Amino acid sequence: MSLFEDQHNFAEVILPVPLPKSFCYSIPLGTDVELAVGHRVLVEFGNRKMYTGIVSEIHQNRPEKYEPKPILEVLEVDPSVTEMQIKLWKWVAEYYMCTIGEVMNIALPSGLKLSSQSYIQLHPNFIIEENLEILNDKEFTLLSTLEKEQTIAYAQVSNIIQLKSPYKTIKDLIAKEAILLIEQIKEKYKPKMEKRLRLTEQYAEHPEALDKLFETLAKKVKQEDALLKYLTLVPVHEDHMSNYHGVSKKEFIKVGKELSASSVGTMTKNKIFEEFERQIPRFELSIADRMQPTPELSAAQKECLQKTITGLNDKGVCLLHGVTGSGKTEVYLKLIKSVIENGSQALFMIPEIALTSQLVRRLKVYFGDVLGIYHSKFSDNERVETWKGVQEGQFQVIIGTRSSLFLPFSDLELIVVDEEHDSSYKANDPAPRYQGRDVALVLAHLHHAKVVLGSATPSLESFYLAVKQKYAYAGLTERYGNAQLPEIKIIDIKAMRKQKKMKDDFSDELLQLVHKTTEEGNQAILFQNRRGYSPYVSCETCSWVPSCPDCAVNLTYHIYRNELRCHYCGHKEHVPKTCVSCGGTSLKTVGLGTQKVEEGLKTFLTDIRVGRLDLDTTRRKHSYEQILTDFEQGHIDVLVGTQMVTKGLDFNNVRVVGILNADSLIFFPDFRAHERAFQLLTQVSGRAGRRGEAGTVILQTTMPKETLFAKVARHDYRNFYRKEIQERQQYHYPPFTRLIKLTIRSEKQELTRDSAEWLGKRLVNWLGAKRILGPQEPVINKIRNYYLSEIMIKLERENFDLKKAKNYIHHAILNLKEEKPFKRVWVSIDVDPN
Ligand code: ADP
Ligand code: ZN
Ligand code: ZN
Repeated sequence: MSLFEDQHNFAEVILPVPLPKSFCYSIPLGTDVELAVGHRVLVEFGNRKMYTGIVSEIHQNRPEKYEPKPILEVLEVDPSVTEMQIKLWKWVAEYYMCTIGEVMNIALPSGLKLSSQSYIQLHPNFIIEENLEILNDKEFTLLSTLEKEQTIAYAQVSNIIQLKSPYKTIKDLIAKEAILLIEQIKEKYKPKMEKRLRLTEQYAEHPEALDKLFETLAKKVKQEDALLKYLTLVPVHEDHMSNYHGVSKKEFIKVGKELSASSVGTMTKNKIFEEFERQIPRFELSIADRMQPTPELSAAQKECLQKTITGLNDKGVCLLHGVTGSGKTEVYLKLIKSVIENGSQALFMIPEIALTSQLVRRLKVYFGDVLGIYHSKFSDNERVETWKGVQEGQFQVIIGTRSSLFLPFSDLELIVVDEEHDSSYKANDPAPRYQGRDVALVLAHLHHAKVVLGSATPSLESFYLAVKQKYAYAGLTERYGNAQLPEIKIIDIKAMRKQKKMKDDFSDELLQLVHKTTEEGNQAILFQNRRGYSPYVSCETCSWVPSCPDCAVNLTYHIYRNELRCHYCGHKEHVPKTCVSCGGTSLKTVGLGTQKVEEGLKTFLTDIRVGRLDLDTTRRKHSYEQILTDFEQGHIDVLVGTQMVTKGLDFNNVRVVGILNADSLIFFPDFRAHERAFQLLTQVSGRAGRRGEAGTVILQTTMPKETLFAKVARHDYRNFYRKEIQERQQYHYPPFTRLIKLTIRSEKQELTRDSAEWLGKRLVNWLGAKRILGPQEPVINKIRNYYLSEIMIKLERENFDLKKAKNYIHHAILNLKEEKPFKRVWVSIDVDPN
């Protein structure tokens, strides 16, 4: 009991609702848990809706304008969320201009969010009849109903047990492990079981007995084999505890040197082995994985590691710039290992999980049980499991996508951001539209942790900061194990057409190479730019493409008006009848598809097996992995794909990479077009010749003289950087400025247009015309029946009050919504848009 019982305490609670503040609740006297920041609590909000909220502050200031409602329930003994996490949420909300509730919504796994939409189910291991003495009547009623109905919506519980507030009953049942809380019915928790094998205690714990056993088995070769194999896999002689988990029976017999199942059966009968069942942990390593040795660093890698360590100590952040196949991962692993030895935590961030099952396996081998995995495609149960594992200190290393930044780290020492240039680090909808790489830097700052940013093609922003010596820099300029970077050949599509050396989209040279390499039993990857990119106009004679006079981007072709527009400033013009550059009259719109490539290839090279990897073919869950596994195991000779084939794939036999038309990459209407093009072409080329003999890349284009392609071919990042950074400075783009994109949407085109105009004017008044671009209809101006318009705000990076500008923007949007005609208009804010 507190001494200040008469003094009333209040809690600020963060709720998952899109309102820009926390909410005050009163703390009822006599709650059994002492309420603290980070506690999950159950509160009523709005129209008798129940939410889980997080306490962000405890204070004594009674709100003046309303009588606060009481907190209904404290959902746990120890807080789920740390104060550090709440600090991070606040930073994200403020920087990315969203509400803290929106941040909480993506930060907390929904398994930790109890709301009216939750369901309960019977715990699979709970048997009611055996537990009668620990259940009261209400609990028994609820469990019996659950047994019949399988799942019950949380909202129905009070009806069933005739109690107005059922929270306590539910909480008690969870504590008794009688029920589970689930978010959706489809995620019902079903443990998978498997048969396992281990030595019986008489041998596992008595080395002398084991020695004797070998003597008895001396003449029974098959049984002796089995025993030896078991002891290589499970080092019982070094640590008899290792026997406890044993091995999967099926794998034990099948993987590696195959054993006779009947001998193993006999040994079980003779009580040498015993069988038992175990729930399959979610990331069990196969025996094959455990048999891989852990690699030694090469001399170059060692040097790079040393540089990185020095750099981190010096600057806190180090850019690790290593060519494709140089083995950056091995360097990361060594860094993380030393963090673990210090007893601290490390976060290994990757852009997308689908592409990384190879990598996850490698890490699991390396780190074993201290490795946790986290990403948004996980089920709730899995996410909560990882969350708890981090909280309780079981996981010292987490591999995960951007959402893993929000885990409850307590002692974070290192964050590795792999492929830091990858645009998947940026979250689009819903808010918060955060950039994972940048939030990683903030999280590290809060924890005084260090950050390694790794890439073969660093983002311009990161390289710029390395050049400015804000970040340290460590390079790896050669591939691991004498593998050579591929030779990149630029093929002139137009010249080839003239010489009749093109078949559809394929040059003869590309077809011949693909044919030859598949004949030799090797593989090829063909890359076609993603579907649905913006069409543009180009001169067939001289390749001229119309561009905006003010923005240094190419103009986008809009069919419905037959006009060209600048995606940034709204400049528009008619499609010219003649080419401005050469005077020719054959202007065409440009566009291509992957399916056509697949079909074309099958007609020209009849014997090869072609697989396709794009949004179409990978819509179903796991189809992605299936296609990649087929490719890895050689059931596919040539993989045709979009952007997906450019990322991180590590295959041994890919000798040829073909880029069917590199032009469109450059003409994407975006100030980052050249940066993306360089990254993408380098990354896709990097799939060739990762082992053994060097690979070849065929880059087809109508602009063989384009200097960007020459730089890709020479693997010349630095000259690419020099030119690009100059242009960014000249046209005031990031990293020299900061962009904020507003998207205005409504159900009527007129309304969108008018409100965007209104908002644009207000912003021009407050921030000045030179900082406001647009409003401007995006290339795709109608999405799901909403008409869109965009305003781009360009702000200085230095000597500028960013906070004040953001306040203006918030206010302008609020004012817009207060205008009667604009009630049904929505505005979303994207800070540092992609
Ligand atoms: P990157 O990420 O830099 O493109 P990876 O880390 O994927 O390169 O390494 C490329 C390949 O070389 C991988 O298959 C990896 O297993 C292998 N490799 C790299 N370093 C070593 C090493 N020190 N010992 C053994 N294999 C290595
Ligand atoms: Zn021309
Ligand atoms: Zn423009």
